[in-house]
Amino acid sequence: MKFRLWRILTGPVTHFSFVLPSWSVSQDLIKYSSRLPSNPGRSILVHSLANAFGLLSYEFSSLRRLQLVKPKPATINDLGAYHARNYLDALLRTPDGTDSEDMSEFGLEDDCPRFPGLSEYICLVAGATITAANALRFGYADIAINWDGGRHHAQKSRASGFCYVADCVLAILLLKKTQPAPALSLSSDTTIPNATPSHRKPRVMYLDLDVHFSDGVSQAFYSPGRSSSTQVLTVSIHHAAPGFFPSSPLAQLPFDPSTSFDPFTLSLSLLEDVFKPDYVVVQCGVDGLAGDPKCKVFNWSLDVAAEGSLGWCVSRIVDDWKGIRKLFLGGGGYHAPNAARTWAYLTSIILGNPLDISINIPDDPSHSAFPLYAPSFTLDVPAGNMLDTNSKEYLAEARKSFERASEMLQEIMQA
Ligand SMILES: [Zn+2]
Repeated sequence: MKFRLWRILTGPVTHFSFVLPSWSVSQDLIKYSSRLPSNPGRSILVHSLANAFGLLSYEFSSLRRLQLVKPKPATINDLGAYHARNYLDALLRTPDGTDSEDMSEFGLEDDCPRFPGLSEYICLVAGATITAANALRFGYADIAINWDGGRHHAQKSRASGFCYVADCVLAILLLKKTQPAPALSLSSDTTIPNATPSHRKPRVMYLDLDVHFSDGVSQAFYSPGRSSSTQVLTVSIHHAAPGFFPSSPLAQLPFDPSTSFDPFTLSLSLLEDVFKPDYVVVQCGVDGLAGDPKCKVFNWSLDVAAEGSLGWCVSRIVDDWKGIRKLFLGGGGYHAPNAARTWAYLTSIILGNPLDISINIPDDPSHSAFPLYAPSFTLDVPAGNMLDTNSKEYLAEARKSFERASEMLQEIMQA
């Protein structure tokens, strides 16, 4: 499939006159992300559909104009901010062809095999998320995107669930270091003032919309009985059931909070006005959408007009959470054309110019992937007719649990 980015920024982005959303992308990032064994070819579909819809064009939206930023590959020091050195050594080592070493210690087997280009993939995906996070920190962008990121199962010393590198954790560790800088500007009259008070440490909220629990990220910041740090709140909305990946006690609703409960590692929705974050990192895994071939437990739809849909959630974050810098990442999603549909649509929402959900997939010579969008050939990923098995009792308990957790959080934040 032919795909060419015609406008990649390779230099420093200090020449922008006002803050713009940024999208981390490069030919190498697309090439190596497309080799991920769990999602072969997905990255190129995502970027080629966005290109076909004109989303990457500076002219797509007059409200928020997109800047494309070429990511700097992560160095071993960048990765070492979270990952263990021996894991990185195993991860980045070039296989010698015989590859007889036992890699099970690092999870590099089964659903996380080593593959040609793994080391490039690791450095590029982590680098793209770090580049996006730095654009937010240093005032180059108010919203940043890396749809190739969002690898939320990766652990400090172990690959897991198709995830090799903990780019979400690396981003959060960077964001919690510094208050967002005022927006960079060539002319002082267009500078957007820093919306947060500078006397407190920056707060980062991580919101995970993937159908799987964000075990890698939540575990990284889990600290029961804590009182010292209130900088990071992780919130995961997911399916949990016996035998459903990943197995983690943190994935359950925190009924009757015990001493092991940490209100900063929540597994339910939480209003951002309790925590008052400076940054929000949103993992937009799309395996909860209807029709996902691997995860057939959710029935989520996309249309921004449908309350509670994925498009609706993202539009609320973009439009209602004002003054908060936002990092949007990808994640799971095993129907590659639907992942491309979704991230193209979410990008249009982020840019303030939502595409018509019923629009046809572009069929022109530059978009050779068109046949993959059969049979509908439209943008929408509609909900199916799956039965909602959440009982009233369960939902009432979830609400109770949410309210209790919110109270705990409020008490801690006000202390
Ligand atoms: Zn997932």
